[in-house]
Amino acid sequence: MRILAIGAHGDDIELACGGTLAKAINNQHEVKMLVVTGKGSKSHKDVIIRTDSEARKEVEDAASILGVTDVTSLNYDDTNVPYSIDLISDIENIIIEFNPDMIFTHFVFDTHQDHIRTAHSTLSASRRRNNIYLYEPINPSGQGYVAFRPQLYSDISSTIEKKISSLQAHKSQLKKYSNKWLEAVEARAKYRGYEIGVDYAECFEIVRTELDL
Ligand SMILES: [Zn+2]
Repeated sequence: MRILAIGAHGDDIELACGGTLAKAINNQHEVKMLVVTGKGSKSHKDVIIRTDSEARKEVEDAASILGVTDVTSLNYDDTNVPYSIDLISDIENIIIEFNPDMIFTHFVFDTHQDHIRTAHSTLSASRRRNNIYLYEPINPSGQGYVAFRPQLYSDISSTIEKKISSLQAHKSQLKKYSNKWLEAVEARAKYRGYEIGVDYAECFEIVRTELDL
């Protein structure tokens, strides 16, 4: 199976579905990560959070901990991701080239403009595809204003450690959000795991899925 995970920023994908991607790699599936931004970023007060090269390195290091070697960054501007024909075409070209069986992206009712536009652009670009899933928003990778409906669960008990390690590779984010961030990620995974009777899980909302009998 080929799985395409699309996120606005480096760390969004790892936070929301890193355990699932690492498990997919362990089970010999092909995984591609697509980051819509990918350059360095600044705070609202113009303080540099990470430089361009730090951003690239953090994304590559985090992906490689999950076992993912296929990572593409589109280098749109952080905080200014458009819902535009350009971005939709960029994503569509990658979908045509990679030909995924499953696509993961942000929850559409997120509150971060980059996440919302990435989600909408992905939905437009994948309009002729089946098996589209929205990953659960979790800070700082997303906060919803409409309840997220967990519909598809993925047992990540075997890969929770890789997920947490991949987030530690995002050094600038860890510095910004502290260890409480990782504790919250682990707690969420534990909570979702408890809902399905396993140690740790991630969950997704289904946009469209195909019953393959
Ligand atoms: Zn983000």
